[in-house]
Amino acid sequence: MTRIAVIDYDRCNPDKCGNFLCERVCPVNRMGGEAIVIDEENYRPVIQEASCTGCGICVHKCPFNAITIVNLPEQLDEDCVHRYGINSFVLYRMPVVKDGMVVGILGPNGTGKTTAVKILSGQILPNLCGDNKSWDSVIKAFRGNELQNYFEKLKNGGIRPVVKPQYVDLIPRAIRGRVEELLRKADDRGTLKEVVEELGLGNILDRDIKQLSGGELQLVAIAAALLRDAHFYFFDEPSSYLDIQQRLKIAKIIRRLAESGKAVLTVEHDLAILDYMSDIIHVVYGKPGAYGIFSKPKSTRNGINEFLSGYLKDENVRFRPFEISFTKKSERKSQEGEILVQYPRLVKDYGSFRVEVEGGNLHIGEVVGIVGPNGIGKTTFVKMLAGVEKPTEGEVDWNLTVSYKPQYIKVDYEGTVFNLLGKIDASKLMSSFYKSELLNPLGIPELYDRQLNELSGGELQRVAITACLIRDADIYLLDEPSAHLDVEQRLAVSKAIRSLMAKNDRTALIVEHDVMMVDYLSDRLIVFDGEPGKAGRALPPMGMREGMNRFLSSVGITFRRDPDSGRPRANKEGSVKDREQKERGEYYYTIP
Ligand code: ADP
Ligand code: ADP
Ligand code: SF4
Ligand code: SF4
Repeated sequence: MTRIAVIDYDRCNPDKCGNFLCERVCPVNRMGGEAIVIDEENYRPVIQEASCTGCGICVHKCPFNAITIVNLPEQLDEDCVHRYGINSFVLYRMPVVKDGMVVGILGPNGTGKTTAVKILSGQILPNLCGDNKSWDSVIKAFRGNELQNYFEKLKNGGIRPVVKPQYVDLIPRAIRGRVEELLRKADDRGTLKEVVEELGLGNILDRDIKQLSGGELQLVAIAAALLRDAHFYFFDEPSSYLDIQQRLKIAKIIRRLAESGKAVLTVEHDLAILDYMSDIIHVVYGKPGAYGIFSKPKSTRNGINEFLSGYLKDENVRFRPFEISFTKKSERKSQEGEILVQYPRLVKDYGSFRVEVEGGNLHIGEVVGIVGPNGIGKTTFVKMLAGVEKPTEGEVDWNLTVSYKPQYIKVDYEGTVFNLLGKIDASKLMSSFYKSELLNPLGIPELYDRQLNELSGGELQRVAITACLIRDADIYLLDEPSAHLDVEQRLAVSKAIRSLMAKNDRTALIVEHDVMMVDYLSDRLIVFDGEPGKAGRALPPMGMREGMNRFLSSVGITFRRDPDSGRPRANKEGSVKDREQKERGEYYYTIP
């Protein structure tokens, strides 16, 4: 076995732990050895992997959870691609990049996807976990691998990469000006007009980048990447903030880009979209922040199914102790539950936009999904229920308490995650029920010491969801809880919401675009339709089958079920299944 010790120096605080606690408790050091030494210059501990016995005492004693020690099979050593430095993250193996193909990457955040892309785009020269300083050695190390050729071209300057970044919400901080200016600068291929039309950006060309919504920023960032003339395109989470129709549209455009001969790599956490978009898939697994391993390339279907099962066949590796499976709808009884409240017909008229929602019932213990295109009034409806927005017609005069997680999370609290959550309800943080159903599955205790304003997008999302769910309320409203979360986190959130509502006899309404998550979460659906940006309407909550059929027929997409995992899969447009299902009006297969 090879031992890897990783220290997260952002967490390590030698003054607060009691003067290098790890060094003082390490049995090797206590016996006069040197498994942990102090780097005086940087005032931090360093673990010498060759002397460390892997006892794990420092890992448990460090009050800030800054240390990870793992033992990995020795055979992996020869596949070590890059290590940022001593006691830092290690990347093993790489994804393939192929002209004419969309290669999808599936795995948790913090396992080296961005590192791999930086290598493929030439921003990082991989050190091969030693002191390598030349591309020639990299080429040698990848001899016989599909990447050998690629690295040769990269070395000779023959690869031009383009990257669509993950956090599009950060774009306005880096780039100023109008949308059109930004796109004109990117237009290497002279295809501005076509791309603008295809992505429906005509109406926002004059807008300042600062004024754009998350979905608009995403489309502009994708457009800017498509306009570039490059060899290798990387799309990091292209679906965030987009509705399902936009997701499928960009998936098709990305496919077409590959079909024109370009090499495309993408990280996507919406499984239905990843499935639709990719030719092959790499699963990346490991321990976030410590190490990541790219699997062999797999067919899209097998890759996703193996990921869900937690077991990689070719590699003979179990990377998760449990399987993720999709519950059979027939097991769900909550829609037959007692009625909690009847909400009235509600209308909001902003002048340029009007939304009308018919009244309906909400049951105790149920989760209601809210689906529909962007700009159709879903957030406005949720805000009216939350009491944040006053209806133009109708009144929410129920005597119920509401807990609300908005779509865009603002940080207006100075302090740690623990302080914030403790102020809401400290007893829930101690409760074994909340620990096992919510806090541990969402990885919240690891974030307790962190300052709220230092969290990444995904960390902030998990904290905001937790803050919403630990508040005592009759109704929980969560607007797009999946944004910035990876697949496992999405499923953990879905499970937590379902379990808390069922066990506490509460009710939740969730606005969501990820079809797999909607499927996993919801007992019933409220479906919005109309003309985005102009007028929206919604009927009362309806059953999953009826709701999904109504929703998907309005966007013209059919889904089938994977026979092994039970997950929903989008049919390719015009395929036999797509045509058959459309003829029968069966856009969505529920498990009988
Ligand atoms: P992903 O894209 O899968 O979220 P990344 O490749 O961005 O993962 O990061 C993997 C790990 O590498 C993270 O824990 C990150 O902290 C670490 N890392 C990234 N860049 C550096 C760096 N320059 N120095 C040290 N560690 C880094
Ligand atoms: P969704 O959640 O379905 O994406 P929203 O409810 O956020 O839709 O918005 C629906 C429409 O209402 C959008 O066109 C938006 O620009 C408009 N809108 C939202 N809030 C306001 C407001 N305060 N004033 C005017 N228009 C608004
Ligand atoms: Fe203290 Fe933990 Fe840092 Fe060691 S790793 S010095 S125990 S904070
Ligand atoms: Fe020392 Fe054990 Fe930590 Fe290794 S794992 S550094 S031997 S305390």
